[in-house]
Amino acid sequence: MQFKELGLDNRLLKNLSHYDFKKATDIQKQAIPVAIAGKDLLASSKTGSGKTLAFVLPMLHKSLKNKAFSAKDPRGVILAPTRELAKQVYGELKSMLGGLSYEATLILGGENFNDQVKALRRFPKFIVATPGRLADHLEHRSLFLDGLETLVLDEADRMLDLGFAPELRRIHNAAKHRRRQTLMFSATLDHAEVNDIAAEMLDAPKRISIGVSNEEHKDITQKFYLCDHLDHKEALLERILEEAEYKQVIIFTATRVDTDRLTKWLNEKQLKAIALSGNLNQTQRNTIMSQFERHVFKILVTTDVASRGLDIATVTHVINFDMPKHTEEYVHRVGRTGRAGNKGDAISLVGPKDWDSFKRVEAFLQQDISFSELEGLKGKFKGFRPKKPAFKKKAQAAKGKAQQKKATPKKPAKRDKTFFNNVAVGDSVFIPKKKPKPTDSE
Ligand code: ADP
Ligand code: MG
Repeated sequence: MQFKELGLDNRLLKNLSHYDFKKATDIQKQAIPVAIAGKDLLASSKTGSGKTLAFVLPMLHKSLKNKAFSAKDPRGVILAPTRELAKQVYGELKSMLGGLSYEATLILGGENFNDQVKALRRFPKFIVATPGRLADHLEHRSLFLDGLETLVLDEADRMLDLGFAPELRRIHNAAKHRRRQTLMFSATLDHAEVNDIAAEMLDAPKRISIGVSNEEHKDITQKFYLCDHLDHKEALLERILEEAEYKQVIIFTATRVDTDRLTKWLNEKQLKAIALSGNLNQTQRNTIMSQFERHVFKILVTTDVASRGLDIATVTHVINFDMPKHTEEYVHRVGRTGRAGNKGDAISLVGPKDWDSFKRVEAFLQQDISFSELEGLKGKFKGFRPKKPAFKKKAQAAKGKAQQKKATPKKPAKRDKTFFNNVAVGDSVFIPKKKPKPTDSE
């Protein structure tokens, strides 16, 4: 389906023609007509499926077709969980505003508050913001949302995971009038808090869910390597980077300290890498991101701060130097490659410390994962044995008691004796204590 068939204003179609998109994506096909019709929306689809335009286009279309509720208040507000994501959305909004007389502004945490107050005094029609700072402006009375026509929550699940529920409520209450339309997007609709907030903020929403977030991503090849310890991970990484024909790579580590250490190590190996870690200020982050975007560096090392929002088509490889703590983060990290129909490789290094996370990812993806090997770099670690089955519910247990009695009692499973031999000196031993959760409910 072409964008033309979605009933969008010609001025928007003209701006769209600057991209050579052949047709609308599934989420765009389904969400745009519903949103144009004025209905609230609760939608999910996999990363890289074009959700941004699925809300930007109908928001602008409505503004072009209808008279503003208020001369001063913004007509549309888009909230995003991270500064990086907000900037990306803002870029896409700006490109759709070409030739239109609307002003837009970006309101991010970590930037100068007074400059933002000045920008708000120019009464921009559209605002892209992170929730914390936008709520601050409401409090400071530098912004009013009584005339807001469209509120968009992008990656609502992530905003809630980051603890933004109070700010979202404050923003909702500042714009609580009957005619406001709310478009809520989330990576998953299986999220209790998302459903709670949706119940509060949306009015009889149309639910659209395209593909599930654990759906196999056709354009991304996923590979997993078992590793014994840090040195082994580094050796694997070095070989992978040697052999891969990459344009740009994003490497994810578990912590900020690991990010800095690994970046230093890569540069010692003459691999030009730059670190993006959470403790940097906005200017520093901007500089790093723009250097990466301009290909000054081919390798970006980061923690989960960058796993959402980065949209760089030339990222051919994502490497999980450490597995992510939260399962859904895996999907988001991996989604940084294979953008917009390009092919991508996602490579994960799984050591003893990563095993629990790996098992959760495996369960989440519902795929049988086999491990790849590199010649001469085979390790000893083979994964931990499956733990005891989850405790049965009392009722079931009672039911099966009689049969269990008859069965020969089994000896408890022994710990793999070679396990401790596999752990190198200096590598802190990780022995998972908790039974793995069947799904990511963290
Ligand atoms: P999501 O928010 O679902 O992760 P984005 O909105 O960030 O996805 O879009 C991912 C990429 O796909 C962007 O580079 C965007 O410009 C591109 N894109 C959007 N719509 C289309 C389309 N209809 N056809 C091809 N590419 C598209
Ligand atoms: Mg998005």
